[in-house]
Amino acid sequence: MLINISELISTPLKSETFEVPVTMEFYELSGDRFPFREKGSLLLTVANTGSRKLHLNGRWQGTIGIPCDRCLKEVAVPFDIEMDEDVDLSPERQEDLADDSYIEESSINTDALLNHEILIRFPMKILCRDDCKGICLKCGKDLNLGECGCDRRSLDPRMAAIQDIFKNFKEV
Ligand SMILES: [Zn+2]
Ligand SMILES: [Zn+2]
Repeated sequence: MLINISELISTPLKSETFEVPVTMEFYELSGDRFPFREKGSLLLTVANTGSRKLHLNGRWQGTIGIPCDRCLKEVAVPFDIEMDEDVDLSPERQEDLADDSYIEESSINTDALLNHEILIRFPMKILCRDDCKGICLKCGKDLNLGECGCDRRSLDPRMAAIQDIFKNFKEV
């Protein structure tokens, strides 16, 4: 959603608070899509600091579904984001503004802002539980639900070498 901030930009010391519902279905990160499970709304206060700068202060609480690193089962990951951003509007900084993709001429793109804030907090690793056993690399079964009976030892080349040694012994 776009918030028009042209009046804020031209009025020193003006401040305004917006409550913006999140309408995106997915959070997208390098081609992967993670569904919003609780979208909530973005509470955003935009203040003109009086020196060609805007101060953005916001909060978003929501939940994103992210697959477990080991078994790929979706985990509902809660986010509680407090954002605090300064936007320099002075002409010599106009080039930098291009980096802040959430500022579009005289508007704030709240989806882009939220994406930016989620990105810098996105967890490196998600596990459905600390001792998740993952999935069998041979048959794909979720090993948290029980053993599948596959012989996965051969997947480890060191184990395979040892098995060969035993085999050789038997053949002698
Ligand atoms: Zn898992
Ligand atoms: Zn298996």
